[in-house]
Amino acid sequence: MARGSGSHLSRSQRRTLDAICDTFAPGSVELGVPDQVVELARLNPSVSDGELRALLAFFTLRSFARRPRARRERVLVAWCDSRLAARRAAFQALRKGVLLSFYSHEHQQQRIGYPGKLGPPPTPREPRITITQARDLDCDVCVVGSGAGGGVAAAVLAQAGLDVVVLEAGPAVSEADFVGDELDAYRRFYWGAAAATTADGGIGLLTGECLGGTTTVNWTTAFRTPDALRREWGGPFLDEGFTRSLDAVCERSGVSTDYNTPSTRDAIMRRGLESLGWHVAPMPRNVRACDQGTVCGYCGFGCQLGAKQSTLVTWLEDAHAAGARIVVEVRAERVRVEHGRATGVDARTRRGEPVSVRARAIVVACGALRTPELLLRSGLRNANVGRHLHLHPVTGVSALFDEEVRPWAGTTQALYSDEHADLEGGYGLKYETGPIHPGVLIVFSPWRGAAASDSLIAELPRLSGVGILVRDRGSGEVRVSRRGRLTVRYRLAEDDVRRVRVGVEGAARILEAAGAKRVYSAHARTLSYEPGPGRRDRFLAEVDREGFEPGRCGFFSFHHLGSARLGASPRESACSWDGETWDVRGLYVMDGSSFPSASGVNPMITIEAIAHLNASRLAAAMT
Ligand SMILES: Cc1cc2nc3c(=O)[nH]c(=O)nc-3n(C[C@H](O)[C@H](O)[C@H](O)COP(=O)(O)OP(=O)(O)OC[C@H]3O[C@@H](n4cnc5c(N)ncnc54)[C@H](O)[C@@H]3O)c2cc1C
Repeated sequence: MARGSGSHLSRSQRRTLDAICDTFAPGSVELGVPDQVVELARLNPSVSDGELRALLAFFTLRSFARRPRARRERVLVAWCDSRLAARRAAFQALRKGVLLSFYSHEHQQQRIGYPGKLGPPPTPREPRITITQARDLDCDVCVVGSGAGGGVAAAVLAQAGLDVVVLEAGPAVSEADFVGDELDAYRRFYWGAAAATTADGGIGLLTGECLGGTTTVNWTTAFRTPDALRREWGGPFLDEGFTRSLDAVCERSGVSTDYNTPSTRDAIMRRGLESLGWHVAPMPRNVRACDQGTVCGYCGFGCQLGAKQSTLVTWLEDAHAAGARIVVEVRAERVRVEHGRATGVDARTRRGEPVSVRARAIVVACGALRTPELLLRSGLRNANVGRHLHLHPVTGVSALFDEEVRPWAGTTQALYSDEHADLEGGYGLKYETGPIHPGVLIVFSPWRGAAASDSLIAELPRLSGVGILVRDRGSGEVRVSRRGRLTVRYRLAEDDVRRVRVGVEGAARILEAAGAKRVYSAHARTLSYEPGPGRRDRFLAEVDREGFEPGRCGFFSFHHLGSARLGASPRESACSWDGETWDVRGLYVMDGSSFPSASGVNPMITIEAIAHLNASRLAAAMT
């Protein structure tokens, strides 16, 4: 998803880029960081080549490269604090690109006490899926996307005896590819090198792009759809059939609470929760023979043990064993429609060659950002296509401890707290931890000058954090601009901001109760306090002053939902309850886009269950 050639900067632009990199992280030019930044920008679907050049031209005109370091730092901090959201977004994009690249170098990692990549697994299993070469194909059902929704749908349909072709935009991967190298993993297995954001830059958008989709790189938290949510959604979610689908996906994906040895991060969170008398519970996880140790902390870069029961090692293998043909590095560009019925998919290989698949039915499972993109490109007009996008916005509070935490290691997510899961009418937040590698710390950290930033990042081994995952009532939308660019518009709604604020206070209290020496919010200005009488209140007053406008505080979305939602009528939804689009017969959606609203729990199992249920219905109708 390159947005331009990206590599050819004029000499003055290049000098400016070097100066920017050197200002963020002295020594980065010698390490080749500017080239890495250009490469990341090229991969980032939210930034065009023209925008990068315009930004560099602007800095060049103001002779940025000729200013002394202190002056250059002041210029960058002014952009960080600017009243213009576009400047804050540009600052954050540059900061993340430079620092992520800088701390990807072995020497820098050693300096901050981070052990770096795992290296290849000692005894990786052979890939068990033979890839079908990209060419024109005929089949019964073409499944586009191989993640949580697509992987399950492909298996159910193929096992029912249908001839299935899976088209996946990302590469084929297997355990041997998972060497646990953070930046390399973002570039190879994530959409847009994990650098995509909402249009205002306020929320980072993380999603996988490889065989198995986001399930290959996710963190193995496996919640069943809560009963209260099923009642709220109604329709088929009230039926026994959905319960059977949930059972089936939990069984095949190995969901249990047998692998919950707490990492140091989780032990800290539990200590805090217990001393406050707050809720804490073991995390259900989709793993088998998980080491729950160092390797587990690198789960977000692919599981080199094959313990994570992603669709890569479960449903896609089942689909393949049942005869499904799996084609990779092929991006669907358009669903072909004849007389109101889907008849095939026009796609393109990475090298730009056209591929056409004829099919009796199409299942779109590209995730809730790119499913509506494909539907819109295919001419669907229902007003709900692309709307009602929920992001489960995530921010975090981190803290420094006396003890060595090594927050990159240990079980990905062993525990969670629902203490504030229902603050108002079923809307609230979850507290969860997650592995903190240098790149993760960087995105949630302030930059107020190179020395202060480096000192904070060098504290990584003694840092821990609590993530705040908000069930959002507000929503955004996915659009395709006139220039053909996928745009995600999303602003935190006011009452969601209120709940974020509850979460920041709650997480600070948890970390403080666990013995934190210093607590930090994820704001762009450094907001922090050493626990002591009245200090948390002063910190929270600063949090309130700073607020949560785009670029003021770090947010990420790991869960994209609802952008082609299921429902009872075309007025309120893009698809019927069984996943068929209202606009085009034979065209189905089975992925995170299908959610009628935000689920409030990590969504993988619900997505898989929806795909299981609706693929079973489709199979029954087609056989
Ligand atoms: C780092 C991380 C950790 C997470 N941890 C958890 C967790 O622990 N528990 C949990 O429940 N959820 C977790 N999630 C979220 C969860 O994995 C996703 O919500 C889920 O996988 C989404 O399923 P999906 O089918 O909608 O899309 P995906 O799984 O994202 O699959 C979509 C697939 O479609 C492909 N694709 C897209 N466009 C095209 C196209 N045009 N042509 C062909 N192929 C295309 C993509 O490459 C991708 O492989 C995590 C997410 C991230 C990013």
